[in-house]
Amino acid sequence: MTTVCHRELEVALAAVRDAARICRSVQATIAPDALAKKDKSPVTIADFGSQAVVCRVIGDAFPSDPIIAEEDSTELQNEDNAPFLHRIHDEVCRECVLASKEQICRWIDRGGHQDYSQRFWTLDPIDGTKGFLRKEQYAISLALIVDGRIELGVLGCPNLPLVPGDDSTAGTLFYAIRGQGAFAIPLEGVGEPLRLSVTGTTDSSQARFCESVESGHSAHGTSEQIAKKLGITAAPVRLDSQAKYGVVARGEADLYLRLPTKADYFEQIWDHAGGVIVVEEAGGKVTDITGKPLDFTHGRQLKQNQGVIVSNGLLHDTVLAAVRAVV
Ligand code: AMP
Ligand code: MG
Repeated sequence: MTTVCHRELEVALAAVRDAARICRSVQATIAPDALAKKDKSPVTIADFGSQAVVCRVIGDAFPSDPIIAEEDSTELQNEDNAPFLHRIHDEVCRECVLASKEQICRWIDRGGHQDYSQRFWTLDPIDGTKGFLRKEQYAISLALIVDGRIELGVLGCPNLPLVPGDDSTAGTLFYAIRGQGAFAIPLEGVGEPLRLSVTGTTDSSQARFCESVESGHSAHGTSEQIAKKLGITAAPVRLDSQAKYGVVARGEADLYLRLPTKADYFEQIWDHAGGVIVVEEAGGKVTDITGKPLDFTHGRQLKQNQGVIVSNGLLHDTVLAAVRAVV
């Protein structure tokens, strides 16, 4: 029996749309040399702004649901960071809702839950911060977890075309409710939901895979060896954020490989929950590199898992065998 109804979906979609407006507004102000100058202020402003508005909407609609989100307002309330709080306040008031700075900090801190609960939300206000700064892919990822199982996921991808290759359709909102399929709709405006399904590829040599742009987040050398074992000749598609889950869910790629760069790194739950259910509901499969399902019952991190392997389901066992042979 599904424990999630359409009310949760409507609220989550509205929350992610609010966040995306802030992210887009801030991203439009990024100077071309921001990356070279290592100026991370835009991402800081959008990150906190996004978390504030999502936690506001979720917290108002479901006041007893804890939220495990990436940020908290401690740093922001430091006097040195007053200019940041000022800009966040501007963005939230202009794009979403009039509120005081204190109220904004309280909304952000609704996301400060630490431990596992029977029912909770998890949020990445901006996943793929490097992609955000490069004006490439990033995502707002929100999921509801009940009894350790992801029941609802919403992924906002403001720079991903709804129709692959058609840049006039920029901005995709992916969503899935457990047992009810995965869909994509335009991030802004209206449009019939497009039902997503993974590819039917069974010959691993024909597989297309995606991975992180950042080699610090996923070992590129290892994926190259695995691809070789699988007979894959196509170059990997590299993109930031959980947009990779959306790309597999809609059949643009067969696989997403996330191979550990160090043994002591645990993945954060908000980096995966929203994406996992979208892929699963599109017919795909997600495990860690040993074949274990991702375990969302250990608080903020996936403490029982190592790396992540995402596939169309059909290729999963073959890929895991190749991973075992290499890692
Ligand atoms: P991606 O855009 O797929 O490269 O993933 C971005 C996410 O990688 C960020 O939200 C970080 O939480 C996460 N991250 C940071 N360091 C690591 C690491 N060493 N291994 C895996 N993920 C990481
Ligand atoms: Mg992230």
